[in-house]
Amino acid sequence: MTDRLYDKNAYVSSFEAVVTDCRSYGDGYAVLLDRTAFFPEGGGQSGDSGSIGHIPVRDTQEEGGEILHLTDLPCEIGAAYPCHIDFALRYDRMQNHSGEHIVSGLVHALYGLDNVGFHLGETETTLDFNGVLDREQLDRVEEQANEAIWHNLPILCEYPTKEQLATLDYRSKKELSGEVRIVTIEGYDCCACCAPHVARTGEIGLIKLLDFIHYKGGVRIWLAAGKRALLDYREKYREVSAVSRALSVPQAECAAGVDRLLAEFEEKKANATALSRELAEARVASLSPNAAGNILYFLTENDELMARKIALGGAERADGVCAVFFPAGGGYRFMIASQQIRLREKAAAIREALAARGGGTDDLLQGSSTAEKEQVTAFFEKSL
Ligand SMILES: [Zn+2]
Repeated sequence: MTDRLYDKNAYVSSFEAVVTDCRSYGDGYAVLLDRTAFFPEGGGQSGDSGSIGHIPVRDTQEEGGEILHLTDLPCEIGAAYPCHIDFALRYDRMQNHSGEHIVSGLVHALYGLDNVGFHLGETETTLDFNGVLDREQLDRVEEQANEAIWHNLPILCEYPTKEQLATLDYRSKKELSGEVRIVTIEGYDCCACCAPHVARTGEIGLIKLLDFIHYKGGVRIWLAAGKRALLDYREKYREVSAVSRALSVPQAECAAGVDRLLAEFEEKKANATALSRELAEARVASLSPNAAGNILYFLTENDELMARKIALGGAERADGVCAVFFPAGGGYRFMIASQQIRLREKAAAIREALAARGGGTDDLLQGSSTAEKEQVTAFFEKSL
């Protein structure tokens, strides 16, 4: 049996251990040690990574009571190795896991809900509860959770005797058999948990409850604690500060500033649409067909909607076609409309003459062309 160093002391990051077994596992190896500080994935927390000698450990898993250190290279059985765990990553997980216990304990005490799911990912930590909470309730939980940090309470990880356990009121997700490890934060939480925790609540630094959604009849809450909460605050501050400068509004009024901007934008958009309609009508009114009965119009702006309106409007005034060309990507895009000619029958000839791609219906062809302006003009001077 591997001696689980993390169980007694969550702060062991370097240790020496003897390899007791090394076997093929997946596309790499599973290394077993006589003692380890590597925490195997469990209780919602990922397995530790680090190194055994110079060999990187990418994950740690527990299977059938054995702790498997997963590597890409084999270790020598019987040899002693200096081992290191990635402690920055582990400490981040400890801060967030301990934070989760405080929050889950408070939600249970204040609102009688159970934590029914916990995932501590690389960037996100989520907590699922079997009942609905609103923002006001979450704010209350968040405030009291941070008070627990300010009180800098000890976080005790112990194995009580069967008799002691029988008298304890503790949270647990599943029926437990054998020795039960109880993590206690006096006044806030008592929970069965196998994971390493920080020694005192003060080390969590900060607990922030982020978004929440209704999920499977309850709620899912996103939590950030410790350094993650600081980094999240830093990022949010940078964003708000940029919006505040761009809108020239105080940071506390960014949302109202954005709402005002959106309302202005909607009004301008409605004005622009009306103006665009009037402009299209005026342009169509000025059109007259050439000797071949066609209308050709070069639009200066890249505006597909305008091109379509002119093409369809112009087609009513042409015996042949109304072709509108507008600039796009170094060449032209076009809309060709007609009420007299079945355009699909002409599509192949148009594509060939104007180095064009595209297609459409008998009433309207659209596409792109790499032809020169003179070439386009010459083409529509003849009837199609
Ligand atoms: Zn836990």
